[in-house]
Amino acid sequence: MAGTVGLGNVVVKEIRVKTALSRSGLPEYDYALNPYLGCQHGCIYCYAMDFTRSEPGRRWGEIVYVKANLIYALTKDIRKLKPGIVGVSTITDPYQPVESRYKLTRRAIELLCNAGYHVSVQTKSALIIRDLDIISKCGKSVDVGLTITTMRNTYRAVEPMAAHPTARASALRRIASLGIKTWIFLGPVIPGVNDKVEDYEPVIRLAKETNSQVIIDRFRPRPVVIKFMSRKLNPIYPATRDWWSETLNSIMRLCREYGVNCITAEDEWEINRKREK
Ligand code: SF4
Repeated sequence: MAGTVGLGNVVVKEIRVKTALSRSGLPEYDYALNPYLGCQHGCIYCYAMDFTRSEPGRRWGEIVYVKANLIYALTKDIRKLKPGIVGVSTITDPYQPVESRYKLTRRAIELLCNAGYHVSVQTKSALIIRDLDIISKCGKSVDVGLTITTMRNTYRAVEPMAAHPTARASALRRIASLGIKTWIFLGPVIPGVNDKVEDYEPVIRLAKETNSQVIIDRFRPRPVVIKFMSRKLNPIYPATRDWWSETLNSIMRLCREYGVNCITAEDEWEINRKREK
């Protein structure tokens, strides 16, 4: 452990890593790059807490490990590996507040694009706007996804420290206006939280406006998440098959009405799996 600092209510610890790129388990990516372990956004549904076995996983949203030597490790990885698609990030938000200090995501994207990798960025933060200078230089080798689960203020119950959805929407508009490929991750859709037309209709309208694809995902309860969630949300409604079928039909109907390209995360995985073969 290289050092510990406080950043607001969050404890930030610097760690050292041997590698920066890991093989991704997600079919759409060849590699994953996670500059941080843990996430200050502290979303109560975050599946990453199940995959983060160290301290940040147990104290979700309260503690973040910073991979202080990430850029050195990435430079070494790039020399050894074959370029491919990199998911930035898969178990953390690459633009959570600590990034404003460390700039690891910024430097990593620049390095990856210059080395011929395709970078796929996903965030809930408007901090990404800071890096539009380097992101736009990546040209066709970058795409950016903003996660927006609802446009209503109720987002706060499940994403307590993330940017307001209107700030995410503004960031998306700005990125799309530069001709960068954009998408919206509408997920997880959680029963009783963000499964009403008033939650997703404005998101689909935003997709139309910005020519973004929408990737829709349902809530997938996992043991650690359910335990964490039950301390913050009461009641938790079951994500039944009937509920999802009805909700998804309604979302897809709106997508067709607006002429927006919508796909479920499962269908997207399937398409990417077939492409891999
Ligand atoms: S922003 Fe993403 S990684 Fe961070 S807590 Fe929320 S869902 Fe998890």
